[in-house]
Amino acid sequence: MEIERKVKYEAELDKNFLREIIELSHCEEIERCIQCGTCSSSCPMAVYMDYPPRKIMAMVKEGFKDEALRSFTIWLCSSCYTCTVRCPAQIKITDVMYALKRKAIEDGVYPARFSIPVLDKEMTKIIQSTGRNWEIGVVVKLYLKTNPFGLLKMAPIGLKLIKTGRMSFKKESIKNKKQLRKLLNLMKEETNA
Ligand code: SF4
Ligand code: SF4
Repeated sequence: MEIERKVKYEAELDKNFLREIIELSHCEEIERCIQCGTCSSSCPMAVYMDYPPRKIMAMVKEGFKDEALRSFTIWLCSSCYTCTVRCPAQIKITDVMYALKRKAIEDGVYPARFSIPVLDKEMTKIIQSTGRNWEIGVVVKLYLKTNPFGLLKMAPIGLKLIKTGRMSFKKESIKNKKQLRKLLNLMKEETNA
């Protein structure tokens, strides 16, 4: 068995990480985190997370980039905003979680075969290309990329949903895709500004 060093030296921390996340989340207030733990004790998902929200805020501040981006926490956040409403330092914790998800997808470092980031990525891809969600396409891709055998198990439910018209093989698309692209490009420019 190989023994790994768990402690990180200061030189190994990413000094630019905090700035990157502030820019993506528009949350300068994160620097004011007092580590009170109100966010963690209010979070309904904290019991399932590998790091509670308080710890994620500390990791971002100190430059533990790899640990924060590879955590399950950011994907388990259900965007309920309870932490954001209760934080005494007015830190937009939910927006920070979104920024971390975005960065993890951009850098391709989300947990492998974990369904939430794959679902997020596949759904975004389909909506960006057609302007509509396409449940069957998303579900099939999700299972193929995370749990191919699960697809066989889910097939009977899928067939029932197709028979009752709740899902369709037909991929729908909006008429004015040019306008959609324009809108998406504007949004991209706005977020990178
Ligand atoms: S509630 Fe706000 S100040 Fe307290 S630990 Fe969480 S982020 Fe930091
Ligand atoms: S927004 Fe996310 S991190 Fe905050 S309380 Fe809700 S689930 Fe927890």
